[in-house]
Amino acid sequence: MTNIEIDCVQRNASSASLSPYCGQPSPAYTAGSNGTSAAGDLKKCRFSETALSRPLSRTGSDSDEYLKFEVGAQTSYKPLHERIEKRIRSGTPFFSLEFFPPKTANGVANFYTRLDRYKEGDPLFVDITWHHSGDPANLNKETSSSSIAAGCLDYCRMDTMLHMTCTQYTKEQTIAHLEQSKRIGLRNILALRGDLPPNTSSDEPVVKPVHMALDMIKWIKEEYGDYFTIACSGYPLGHPEAASYTADLQYLKAKVDAGAQLIVTQLFFEAEAYERFVRDCREIGITVPILPGIMPIQGYESIRRIAQLSQLTIPESILAALEPIKHDDDAVRNYGRHAAVEMCKRILANGTAPAIHMYTMNREGSCREILQELGLWHKRPMRALPWEPHGVNHPVRCKEDVRPIFWSARPKSYIYRTRDWDDFPNGRWGNSSSPAFNDLHDYYLFNLHSTVNEKDKLRDMFGHELRSIEDVGRVFARYIDQKENEHGVKVTTLPWNEQESGVQAETTLITDDLVWCNEQGVLTLNSQPSVNGAPSTDALVGWGKPGGYCYQKAYLECFISSENANSLLEFIDEHNPRINYHIVNRDGTLDRSNAEATTPIAVTWGVFPGAEIAQPTVVDPISFRVWRDEAYDLWLTNWAYLYPKDSGSHTVIQDIHDSFCLLTLVDNDFVRPSILFEVVREMVKRTEARRSTSEVTEKLAATFVA
Ligand SMILES: Cc1cc2nc3c(=O)[nH]c(=O)nc-3n(C[C@H](O)[C@H](O)[C@H](O)COP(=O)(O)OP(=O)(O)OC[C@H]3O[C@@H](n4cnc5c(N)ncnc54)[C@H](O)[C@@H]3O)c2cc1C
Repeated sequence: MTNIEIDCVQRNASSASLSPYCGQPSPAYTAGSNGTSAAGDLKKCRFSETALSRPLSRTGSDSDEYLKFEVGAQTSYKPLHERIEKRIRSGTPFFSLEFFPPKTANGVANFYTRLDRYKEGDPLFVDITWHHSGDPANLNKETSSSSIAAGCLDYCRMDTMLHMTCTQYTKEQTIAHLEQSKRIGLRNILALRGDLPPNTSSDEPVVKPVHMALDMIKWIKEEYGDYFTIACSGYPLGHPEAASYTADLQYLKAKVDAGAQLIVTQLFFEAEAYERFVRDCREIGITVPILPGIMPIQGYESIRRIAQLSQLTIPESILAALEPIKHDDDAVRNYGRHAAVEMCKRILANGTAPAIHMYTMNREGSCREILQELGLWHKRPMRALPWEPHGVNHPVRCKEDVRPIFWSARPKSYIYRTRDWDDFPNGRWGNSSSPAFNDLHDYYLFNLHSTVNEKDKLRDMFGHELRSIEDVGRVFARYIDQKENEHGVKVTTLPWNEQESGVQAETTLITDDLVWCNEQGVLTLNSQPSVNGAPSTDALVGWGKPGGYCYQKAYLECFISSENANSLLEFIDEHNPRINYHIVNRDGTLDRSNAEATTPIAVTWGVFPGAEIAQPTVVDPISFRVWRDEAYDLWLTNWAYLYPKDSGSHTVIQDIHDSFCLLTLVDNDFVRPSILFEVVREMVKRTEARRSTSEVTEKLAATFVA
């Protein structure tokens, strides 16, 4: 049984007042690198002379919708309805996606990963359904609608709309739900009546709704003015409880007149139904955008059940086409995909639909393919910053444009740790006198342990049996070079990476050096090459709007043995002030740096026409100490736990965790070829020399004793 089938079965079969939103339709609503971000070759600093003569490798323009965050611009939050209207005015169709909250904590982590993949296509917004029986407002429950909506906004950096029903609540409760939504940064509400409690017997009086969506829209306007973008539901075939189709339309007009700025429709099976609905709405003076709710047919039984619950009739032509293939899931899915594409093409091409609102049912394949076939799936061609900013999607973080480099492979963790900040660094990190970082230990998303299957998969990548540091170094090396390991698998993630996507393509430029480091037991977590004036449109290291130039200092972050730490400290000061270093051990008894104790070092900056210099990435000594604890913990929480406590493999990881030092190196001379890897080579050489000397001494001592 698929998820949706389970969901539908859970609903009270007694009909029109089934309450939906666990991912299934209501009676009336059915659709209802290694952080190693390394890029250009440090040694060659290849941009300085050729920057101006190189052809632009990517496209983009100032008005590029993809570049929602513009460096140097006074970015401020733009309400969703204004952005939708802008897209409609410019004739640029878009898509949005509906999801229901996952049911389990493990499901939540997978859900965000799925959303990250959906994000690649650049949806304008996502919406999260609200199910009265699922404790939707409880922020302490990770699977509640409100928690999930907050996660979509914060961790996935997506503009998020929360569905909210009102008939089961008092006005005060609804206002409390809105207040909480405001507090967590949500700015878009789909205001709904929701389903009525079911009649349990035929002699009971029919339950009458206490409040309607219209009431809720009025409350929102009264209490919050223009703060929220308000959406409402629309029914192309009329709501089943409506006195008539015309009465339903008039009621819809009342919702819009009361303040709804957007209509999202119930699913429909034929383009004509939507076309007629839009025409009729326009005729009675409804002018707001009407987004068509599209639910691709993904299974024979599920679509029949959904139609039944929504009191929708599946057209004969569709039933006839499905009949001969109903036992072949793939054929049904293909049919559903094709039918959805044809219908969407038609309503987009004839101008009735400004966009496609996809009822994903939390699935991925078909929806993604449909959007790709429609040409709505836009892989964003440019990076607005070296890391992914929230841009105008986020009311509080919309101006954030500086971050410490350490969390670059764990952006969700960084967002969680800083989520209570009311103000985010903008323009400059400044002298961060002890910023408060939330404790990660409390947060389920980062403390989930994998299921048995996932553990096996991770052991295939991280090793079934680790005998030495060399074995560990090889895991890091295979992550960097993306060659298959002895189990024939690629190491696509390390414990310090949130995403399982392998290294960034740009890392290939310094692969050899990084592989060498790791094979010597210098375990690299993060790096970037120096860049001296790359065009901002450069495919590998560019970011920001076209016409700018990007700069970087070479950076390397790694775990090293205490012997290596001793070797490094013997000579590293010779490179002062060119090289800045910061080295710490796990318990903080070693904490040495040759940089200013509290001053951050900008390691990435960009120069753009008509704007101040942007410096989006810094190495900040204070944040580094916070990162240190997280980086050390990940050895145990994300690696050692894969092995029994008394095993050799566990001991190898535990020993590294206990004895290795964490080091950052910055080469301040971004104009000349970087010397960071030379420094590492010198360190390793000295350690080896010391080792062989002590071996000789030991041998001599042994001979002497003998
Ligand atoms: C896009 C969309 C998303 C949805 N998301 C959810 C969700 O997350 N959770 C959930 O539980 N349900 C959801 N639903 C289902 C929805 O709750 C049910 O369809 C419910 O029965 C009606 O809610 P509503 O907000 O559409 O109601 P309303 O718009 O308040 O009213 C429903 C219908 O009642 C009739 N009506 C009411 N008052 C009048 C009047 N004065 N005069 C004439 N007719 C009147 C109209 O026909 C109207 O369309 C969604 C539906 C849609 C279309």
